[in-house]
Amino acid sequence: MTSQKQKTVVIGAGPVGTLAAIYAAQRGHDVEVYELRSDLRDPSTVPLNFTKSINLALSERGINAMKQSGRPDVLEKIFSETIPMKGRMIHGKDLQGELYEQSQVYDVHGRSIYAVDRGGLNNALLDELDKLPNVKVIFNHKLTGADFKKHKAWFEVIGSTTMTNTGRNKEIEVDFDIMVGADGAHSAARYHMMKFARMDYQQEYIDTLWSEFHIAAKPVKSGGSEDERFAISPNHLHIWPGKDFMFIAIPSFDGSFTCTLFMPSSNFAALEEDPTEVPKFFDAHFPGVSSLIPPADLIASFNENPHLPLINIKCQPHHYTDSIVIVGDAAHAMVPFYGQGMNAGLEDIRILFEILDKYPSRAEALAKYSEYRKEDAHVINDLALQNYVEMRASVVSPFYSARKWLEES
Ligand code: FAD
Repeated sequence: MTSQKQKTVVIGAGPVGTLAAIYAAQRGHDVEVYELRSDLRDPSTVPLNFTKSINLALSERGINAMKQSGRPDVLEKIFSETIPMKGRMIHGKDLQGELYEQSQVYDVHGRSIYAVDRGGLNNALLDELDKLPNVKVIFNHKLTGADFKKHKAWFEVIGSTTMTNTGRNKEIEVDFDIMVGADGAHSAARYHMMKFARMDYQQEYIDTLWSEFHIAAKPVKSGGSEDERFAISPNHLHIWPGKDFMFIAIPSFDGSFTCTLFMPSSNFAALEEDPTEVPKFFDAHFPGVSSLIPPADLIASFNENPHLPLINIKCQPHHYTDSIVIVGDAAHAMVPFYGQGMNAGLEDIRILFEILDKYPSRAEALAKYSEYRKEDAHVINDLALQNYVEMRASVVSPFYSARKWLEES
């Protein structure tokens, strides 16, 4: 591991940016993390536009990247509040019209993926950064510009009391040796890098929106086991396949489930016309759900939670000279059907620093990283797209021919 004094500026304090900051700090860099939003650990913060699904599936890629960070406390803290999911549980009606559930294990050796709270994971990484003397996390700062030849960046100070004479928020200038752009799918770091690098860029919105629902925890009877809190098996990722749609549920540590409805935009639009039809729609396509989520709650969630798009982004290269590298969703946002977006982003960091450690020239290392990583990023983006068919249709193949089922619809 090299230990040179350099200033690393990380854009974005999401899971990938915070892990990047830990890796850089462990190598002795002076690290500054700039985050657009305020600190979500502060109870007085009202999370504006906190629109990403509450629960995530954490798997080997992500776990290994955190393991290799050199800060074992992080993983220990995160694991203290995860739930192993040993397989998927498929819900539906059989040919006789009876409700069934079928467990399909993920791994013949019994290994699991883990349900983790997005906020809890992010907070554990931020708490770890607080322990590192060479890291500053600067909230409410939005990257607005960068010159990657001069190694300079500009940030708008959100909510600053000192306005410029144009009436806009104050702006600050920051120097850096290397910028790590981890600012998500709509990355400003990537946007500014494009003005310097000859970047190939491709983005696609799929015709599916997603929205969140909630299965509440059940009260535990006196003397009962903690597992009684879960209305359905806690150790599965639950799927109600619906040909063109899909409803999933991921367990939370408190006994509830975070659920996501994935559906074409035209179906969302039809139900938006008359949301009272939502329970009927669920009964027709996701049998059994309305006994877990009361019809009034289904309608309320449909009305109150946003209906959000899904984007797939591929680009290359992921770097420019020795000045910037983009990682996580900024480099390869993908649809969530493979449960690998964050996991692959965390893996970016492990691989990036492994390569940086190997090459004395940062420019050479970034070029090697970009060349190597883009292949894997493109493949996992494609797999994520393909897995939507698997999850919403092929999982029922023991009961139907999935292909026939799709053709009939
Ligand atoms: P983000 O999490 O987007 O973080 C980027 C950060 O940058 C944010 O904090 C943002 O405020 C900040 N920022 C943005 N712009 C600026 C700026 N100009 N200046 C400063 N800061 C800025 N992945 C999995 O691995 N498993 C799953 O089960 C899974 N499920 C998902 C379910 C859904 C419905 C969705 C939508 C995604 C899912 N993902 C999953 C994907 C996962 O959410 C992302 O891959 C992950 O959040 C990417 O992390 P990131 O740190 O790269 O970006």
